[in-house]
Amino acid sequence: MPKKPDAYHRPETLNEALQLLAKPDTFALAGGTHLLAGDVDGAVVDLQALGLNQIEWTNGRLRIGATTPLTELAHALADQPDETPATLLQTAIAYAGPNTCRNAATMGGVIASRLPDSELLAALLALDAELALA
Ligand SMILES: Cc1cc2nc3c(=O)[nH]c(=O)nc-3n(C[C@H](O)[C@H](O)[C@H](O)COP(=O)(O)OP(=O)(O)OC[C@H]3O[C@@H](n4cnc5c(N)ncnc54)[C@H](O)[C@@H]3O)c2cc1C
Repeated sequence: MPKKPDAYHRPETLNEALQLLAKPDTFALAGGTHLLAGDVDGAVVDLQALGLNQIEWTNGRLRIGATTPLTELAHALADQPDETPATLLQTAIAYAGPNTCRNAATMGGVIASRLPDSELLAALLALDAELALA
C-alpha cells in the first residue's frame, strides 16, 4: 500500500495554495492518478477548489486551466472541425491511459509529471503550446 500523505490542504485561493506549496515536503495534488500511486512523503495541497478548470477559446487560441480533467477537455474539443489542432489534442488524450484515469487526470498533472512516453505532452510540443506559471 502506498504511504498516505501526512496532511491534506484544500485552499480556495491561488495565493493560499502558493503559500502552502512553499513549505518543505509539500506537493500539489491535482487528479492524484500519478502522485497518489506512490509514497507521498509529506503534505498535499489539493488544487481542485481553485477554479483552475476553465477552458476558453480567445482569438483562435485555446486556454486550458491546470486542473481541467482530460475527459472534460476531450468533450470540449469534440465540436471542433476535423483536421485542426483540436483533433490532434483529442487523439493524444485518447492515448492517455484508461478512461478511469482520464476522468481524474488533469492537464497540469500531465505536464508536471513529465512522463517521457506521454503522447499528450508530445502533441503539446508539436502545437507550440505555451505554459503560464504562477
Ligand atoms: C493506469 C494509468 C495509466 C496512465 N497512462 C498515462 C499515459 O498514457 N500518459 C501519461 O502522460 N500519463 C499516464 N499516466 C500517468 C498519470 O496519470 C498522468 O501523468 C496524469 O495526467 C497525472 O495527472 P494528475 O492530475 O492525476 O496529477 P497528480 O497525480 O495529482 O500529480 C502528478 C504530479 O504533478 C504535480 N502537479 C499536478 N498538478 C500540478 C500543477 N497544476 N502545478 C504544479 N504541479 C502539479 C504533482 O505535485 C505531482 O508531482 C497513467 C497513470 C495511470 C494510473
